[in-house]
Amino acid sequence: MGLLQDKVAIVTGSGRGIGAATAKLFAQQGAKVVVSDIDPEPAKATADAITAAGGQALAVAADVTTSGGVEELIGQTVNMFGGIDILVNNAGYTWDGMMHKMSDEQWEAMLAIHLTAPFKIIRAAVPYMREAAKKEKEQLGVAKARKVISISSTTGTRGNIGQANYAAGKAGIIGLTKTLSKEWGAFNIQVNAVAFGLIDTRLTQADDAGDFTEREGKKIKLGIPDTMRQMAFMMIPAGRAGTPEEAAGPVLFFASEFSNYVSGQVLEVTGGL
Ligand code: NAD
Repeated sequence: MGLLQDKVAIVTGSGRGIGAATAKLFAQQGAKVVVSDIDPEPAKATADAITAAGGQALAVAADVTTSGGVEELIGQTVNMFGGIDILVNNAGYTWDGMMHKMSDEQWEAMLAIHLTAPFKIIRAAVPYMREAAKKEKEQLGVAKARKVISISSTTGTRGNIGQANYAAGKAGIIGLTKTLSKEWGAFNIQVNAVAFGLIDTRLTQADDAGDFTEREGKKIKLGIPDTMRQMAFMMIPAGRAGTPEEAAGPVLFFASEFSNYVSGQVLEVTGGL
């Protein structure tokens, strides 16, 4: 028996990085995982890897910043697996710039992906989480534990130069988490956040790798200058970035029954920084 045996889990942005590692770990622990990403190929690759390893996965290509994408994600999940036990709001990217030069578009894009998308996904999941729990409580006297986990950042908890827009989104999701934990506590739904420091993914690789993401025809550069990476390694007590697999572990804790009396919390995962 895995820690998440037969639980239905959605992990947004699980085509790559932390989301992909989380989806794979959840599947190893027995969950039926909905692997969702704006990019169809990586989503399929993660889902295929899970299935090849003997797990259960459904790939859903969806842009969670659109209402259609959110509907698609929740609709396909419920059609395939019949409910939602665990929701991980992980999808994201960065669009850095100094505050004094930041465009409206740059600001709004970060709030859209890091704050508004989780809000809309959670709201679309209400019938399958809050209402399902309410019914269980009425009929059985008790509801099974359900989980909402949102991925924040130390940029949201502490601030970071060049990321005012991202910081606002990642801090906002903490406010949403803390409020929802109070609203949904009575339904045995634990709502928590994990705030990562530096995890090795395409968002934090040296930017001379030239990776980018495309939004509405615009190429947005991903990665950070290598000098910043080297400086970060000197400041992080562990002396290095975390791996996506190391990032997935704390998310599993919040998804599992071991966190049934933990709600409204933000766990910083930073290698000791
Ligand atoms: P990543 O780029 O490897 O993975 C993010 C995934 O999200 C990508 O596959 C991307 O296609 C997907 N995505 C982006 N926009 C989407 C949209 N509109 N709809 C659906 N999917 C979308 O990056 P990662 O580092 O694994 O990031 C995962 C989360 O962790 C993000 O929320 C990020 O802000 C957060 N985070 C990362 C770090 C880090 O150091 N890597 C630190 C703190 C927080």
